[in-house]
Amino acid sequence: MDPYSAFTRGGTAYTPTFITDLNQKTCIGCGRCYKVCPRDVFELVERDEDEMDDDMEDEDQMSVMTLKNAMDCIGCGSCARVCPKACHTHEALPLAV
Ligand code: SF4
Ligand code: SF4
Repeated sequence: MDPYSAFTRGGTAYTPTFITDLNQKTCIGCGRCYKVCPRDVFELVERDEDEMDDDMEDEDQMSVMTLKNAMDCIGCGSCARVCPKACHTHEALPLAV
């Protein structure tokens, strides 16, 4: 099935890819994705102590990003472009959805 497409102002079609997952094991809590997201999809929260690895000494790593509102994603892909750890997973939507 063809993926759902959107159009630029100039009428060129493109395929939005929507966020489906965020890997908290690799996230370093830098906040870059939060800053660039135009839809308030993310929230930075405190990492549970039992999820901390022994090598996580940096204070930033006490925080981890979560998906607060994934259903509001517009598929712009900005978060993936700025993430230094490739934490995000995106998928195109089938046309029928
Ligand atoms: S793809 Fe765009 S709208 Fe969706 S979560 Fe990432 S930055 Fe936000
Ligand atoms: S940009 Fe990547 S590493 Fe930084 S907070 Fe977001 S998911 Fe975590």
